[in-house]
Amino acid sequence: MLVPGCWTIAILGLALVAPAVAQQRTTPRPNPRLEQYQREAAQEVDARAQFTQQMVDQIFSFGELGFQEFETSKYLVNILKQNGFTVQEGVAGIPTAWVATWGSGKPVIALGSDIDGIPQSSQFPGVACHKPMVPGAPGHGEGHNSGQPVNVTAALAVKKIMERERLPGTLMLWPGVAEEQLGTKAYYVRAGVFKDVDAVLFTHVGNNLATGWGEGGGNGLVSVLYSFEGRSAHSAGAPWRGRSALDAVELMDIGWNFRREHLRLPQRSHYVIKDGGDQPNVVPPTASVWYYFRELDYPNIMAMWAMGDSVARGAAMMTGTTLASEQVLGSAWPAHMNKVVAQTMWENIKKVGLPAWTDPDQRLARALQRELGVPDSGLATKLPDSLSGGIMPMGQRMGGGSDDIGDISWNLPTITLSFPSNIPNLPGHNWSNAIAMATPIAHQGATAGAKAQAMTVLDLLLRPEVIQQAWDYFRNEQTKGTQYQPIIRPEDRPATWLNADILNRHRPEMRKYYYDPTKYQTYLAQLGVQYPTVRQPDGSCGGGAVP
Ligand SMILES: [Zn+2]
Repeated sequence: MLVPGCWTIAILGLALVAPAVAQQRTTPRPNPRLEQYQREAAQEVDARAQFTQQMVDQIFSFGELGFQEFETSKYLVNILKQNGFTVQEGVAGIPTAWVATWGSGKPVIALGSDIDGIPQSSQFPGVACHKPMVPGAPGHGEGHNSGQPVNVTAALAVKKIMERERLPGTLMLWPGVAEEQLGTKAYYVRAGVFKDVDAVLFTHVGNNLATGWGEGGGNGLVSVLYSFEGRSAHSAGAPWRGRSALDAVELMDIGWNFRREHLRLPQRSHYVIKDGGDQPNVVPPTASVWYYFRELDYPNIMAMWAMGDSVARGAAMMTGTTLASEQVLGSAWPAHMNKVVAQTMWENIKKVGLPAWTDPDQRLARALQRELGVPDSGLATKLPDSLSGGIMPMGQRMGGGSDDIGDISWNLPTITLSFPSNIPNLPGHNWSNAIAMATPIAHQGATAGAKAQAMTVLDLLLRPEVIQQAWDYFRNEQTKGTQYQPIIRPEDRPATWLNADILNRHRPEMRKYYYDPTKYQTYLAQLGVQYPTVRQPDGSCGGGAVP
């Protein structure tokens, strides 16, 4: 996947490693009935291409941030209910989380994907230059609008075959809420959402059709909000009577930046100041700073967190303030993806192949790459050479992004399918990552992903030995020396208040841009965007009409 903020890209680049695990999967025996169902499922996915496109476009138009995915969840829950799924809402105490199930008995196959957006990434789709729809508003600058459409389309294609053939098994769909805050999946695990599930097929937007297994391509993390309390006073009239909480925040940041020199190389740590006071002539009585501490494994994440705590206490002592609270806002284990399920998915990826990109698709991609000053290689036209995977030796791991799918991956066999709905060489978490995400690139990529997903669900339904071998790998290889323990503490609760203020501020304007599929076949048509719109010789960035 193309986004450094999440974990998948790194694991997909992990072809290097001496596999610590013996080859264990036997070549599947020919199974004409399964192959027939898989061909049918792919046709069913193609027949639903317009439905997939509408979902991709609709969720793009909502552009909601983590924990505020109310429109997105309402929309998806309605679709799933209309299609016979039973939906439990408010899962794990999270208002926008839900679990939808259909079918009965074993196996239980869970299809998940994230649904949240990125701050300040509002962007007209199909326009290869920076052009926000609502300036300052969030948008899908990570492409999380496309994963649920992959899963819903795949599930409905498989469900049709299951109904007709009376195949036993349960399909479960669920959203990654607030993935950008690493905010929910550890809570799903704690709430027992996956306790009866046999395998998780997670999907994430990328720029190729790919999957991987093993460990070593990213970091886990803990996300902590440190809040300080001081005493206000007139900043000029009686500054000696004040104690600045902002001073504590600044000294914590300075302390951390010095400490950073003496940390292990694979760490990543970063912060933003959430509260820096109100105005200069009032000594700030409150201030807070939000840290992500990323490291390679659980013990090192916990050690880094403890270091952060001591720097925070030191800052409070230096400034005569108090460390009033320390809130955990999110967490993620570094992921370990299942070898057997990944191999099964990979066989299907090879059957599906990449979409046949059109000239306008490639022109948009190349124009955007030139706009960003990166190689204008266009869209991927070739699958990866082989399935990537392995257990990277600790000493070779470079660290990187995180994804809280990691917590799930340590509780049951899990993989991530990366599907080609975005353009290569983009920075991630940026307006440019939104440009393709409601265009034919995203639509075709999601359809390709849904085929691979549906075919793999059928493998898991019809070949019980795959699930057996996946659990053998999980129990006897993956978790042999490593036991999952949550990073979140028993008293921690999902930070469901996050981003509410941002959505309250921007939603009235954003609402004007919600997609109406009853009036327009595509979102591009509704916006009046000529596809593709690229920078003109006179330097102007055309395209995009005000609704
Ligand atoms: Zn992501």
